[in-house]
Amino acid sequence: MDFRLSDDQELLRRTVREFAEAEIRPHVMEWDESQHFPMDLLPKLAELGLMGIQFAEEYGGSGMSAVEYCICIEEIARVCPAIALSVAAHNGLCTSHIAMFGSEAQKTEFLPRLVRGEVLGAWGLTEAGAGSDAAAMRTTAVRQGQCWLINGSKNFITHGAIGGVMVVIAVTDRSKGHRGISAFIVEHGMPGMKAGKKEDKLGMRASDTSEVVFEDCRVPPARLLGEEGQGFINTLQILDSGRIGIAALSVGLAQGAYEAALRYSKERRQFGQPISAFQAIRWKLADNATRIEAARLLTYRAAYLKDRGARTTRESSMAKLFASEIAVKAADDCVQIHGGYGFVKDYPAEKYFRDVKLLTIGEGTSEIQRLVIARQLLGQ
Ligand SMILES: Cc1cc2nc3c(=O)[nH]c(=O)nc-3n(C[C@H](O)[C@H](O)[C@H](O)COP(=O)(O)OP(=O)(O)OC[C@H]3O[C@@H](n4cnc5c(N)ncnc54)[C@H](O)[C@@H]3O)c2cc1C
Repeated sequence: MDFRLSDDQELLRRTVREFAEAEIRPHVMEWDESQHFPMDLLPKLAELGLMGIQFAEEYGGSGMSAVEYCICIEEIARVCPAIALSVAAHNGLCTSHIAMFGSEAQKTEFLPRLVRGEVLGAWGLTEAGAGSDAAAMRTTAVRQGQCWLINGSKNFITHGAIGGVMVVIAVTDRSKGHRGISAFIVEHGMPGMKAGKKEDKLGMRASDTSEVVFEDCRVPPARLLGEEGQGFINTLQILDSGRIGIAALSVGLAQGAYEAALRYSKERRQFGQPISAFQAIRWKLADNATRIEAARLLTYRAAYLKDRGARTTRESSMAKLFASEIAVKAADDCVQIHGGYGFVKDYPAEKYFRDVKLLTIGEGTSEIQRLVIARQLLGQ
């Protein structure tokens, strides 16, 4: 076993960290307050390879491993979890679905634009009445002549309003249950597809979250993604790797919150000494540093197994569950260590505290992760 990152991976971490500090950090609060996703960041992210992290070089991708993907997401999340969420959804959901299950023609048509950052990717599974129970979706795609006709609406979609390319999951044969669900590639501006309500969120505010509505949206047969009826099964595979990304995002957010708390504890003086001299503060710092290391190891292990071609359903869920829950604790302790200053916007603590809650909800709540892990343990 070798727990060290390679020299190239250490260089990657430094490069992404410097980029995030220079290009993202100065704007974090402005983007958060205005709920603005900075589209002009896309070419800069793409130049570093962050819009196509794990995709083959023949499509313009960076060809990085899953472990390297984690390093990238972690370093962006350390500075701005909302931008990390957008980068993760673009790479890990939409672009991954096309790269893993698309035909050669679909990959050639869509991947280069996505990895160059010309368009943002969106991925639509969730609906108003179908969240954890995603297979209960109502959106349908019905074959009509040469086309598929999509009707329904998708809820809480990252880049629902600003995504140029979207993978949408819809029922193609209700009688077949989850084997009657298929995926399609749709493009922003197609007749019959429009953005609905933009969510006004607690956290992750720079990342657009919107409803997407389909009314007789005609999709050519060449846009069926993967085999008909395999859309839900493929979705579970996408979530296996997507959850490693959310685990990495959690580790990065926790690291950012912990560093802010550590820094503040050395600056803030009460009773004639820095608050870092008090045992109550030291224990919080020690516990968080330890939990972050444990979460990072679980996350990298899931990524390492993915890189070796293993199915990582259990490992991905364990990493996502543990990392997101310790991140909630890290953000909570960060506010506590800042005292009243943790409650105001002059310090980064309150934003980590608002952003972090999404991580125990998105791509499967903590309850659903426990359910997935238990099913794996019981061999079901
Ligand atoms: C900011 C944001 C971005 C998102 N981005 C996307 C996206 O890009 N694409 C997309 O498709 N979706 C996206 N989502 C949706 C997200 O994945 C869902 O919100 C999530 O899966 C939970 O679904 P729900 O909100 O309907 O909650 P529900 O499923 O209604 O859950 C409510 C509560 O019941 C619990 N519960 C439900 N079922 C069970 C059970 N069987 N056992 C025990 N407890 C249970 C849940 O754990 C939760 O605590 C996003 C959501 C947010 C908030």
